[in-house]
Amino acid sequence: MIAYGEFIARGELYDGYFELENGRIRIDGLEFSIDEVKFLPPVKPEKIVGVGLNYKDHAKELNMEIPEEPVLFLKSPSSVIGDKEFIVLPERSERVDYEGELAIVIGRKCRNADVESAADCILGYTCFNDVTARDLQQKGWQWSFAKSFDTFSPIGPYISTSLNPKNLGIRTYLNGRLVQNSNTSNLVFDVYSLVSHVSSILTLKEGDVIATGTPAGVGKLKRGDEIVVEIEGIGRLTNYVR
Ligand code: MG
Repeated sequence: MIAYGEFIARGELYDGYFELENGRIRIDGLEFSIDEVKFLPPVKPEKIVGVGLNYKDHAKELNMEIPEEPVLFLKSPSSVIGDKEFIVLPERSERVDYEGELAIVIGRKCRNADVESAADCILGYTCFNDVTARDLQQKGWQWSFAKSFDTFSPIGPYISTSLNPKNLGIRTYLNGRLVQNSNTSNLVFDVYSLVSHVSSILTLKEGDVIATGTPAGVGKLKRGDEIVVEIEGIGRLTNYVR
């Protein structure tokens, strides 16, 4: 696949497009094993737009109705971390949940895009974990704040730039155990509708991220956990909890 990202390998920083095949990365005439590189967050978004209740089964597990139009919130860009980094549990929350999600990464300035032209605004797709202080969200905090603690937006490891997003398996593993298992074909609002809808409200810019919502199976994180979001055609985003 062709991917876009930023990583450190053998003490050097690389960024831009690279080829990834069978665990081998090729960039600038060099080749690395994916296991020897440290990926950095592949984007520095100005905005992270989250979408709530975008899988029917997840709305059901929260006892909430399927919305008629996308439920949107913002996450702070300061909550971004990369692959293999630590999610830090804040002391004031008793329940912090993982939410495995497909993230859309915007490739160019985009305003009032229609559904048909939305694809032109998209650079690619990556894995995202919409970490959420569920108890604070449920006790009435604005969603944006319950989801914006530092380290609450793991993203990456890199952006897949040649992918059809309509039918991708999405799975989350907590300490190796499968806890979420769905497909992007189950999205209530698909990626093109979301780009169109969001861009009718605000101007999306290069590097901005739309997190498309999580399927059923959200659950609690505790210290020492390993949480992996895996999306077919992209790869695995691994984070640890402390
Ligand atoms: Mg979410």
